[in-house]
Amino acid sequence: MITVSCPACGKPMIVRVNRSTDEEFLGCSEWPKCKETRPMPEDVKMRLAGAPTLPGF
Ligand SMILES: [Zn+2]
Repeated sequence: MITVSCPACGKPMIVRVNRSTDEEFLGCSEWPKCKETRPMPEDVKMRLAGAPTLPGF
């Protein structure tokens, strides 16, 4: 599970997908109340891209 805290409100951030570019990014789980977003961290991106080798799947 990805645990990144929102820098603005401290709530956990969740993976969202930009519908126009198909790119994943992190958005605050309090959205639309909190509109904080962050680019997907590189290590998380690699973990998701390497899905076939994910432990526990
Ligand atoms: Zn937030």
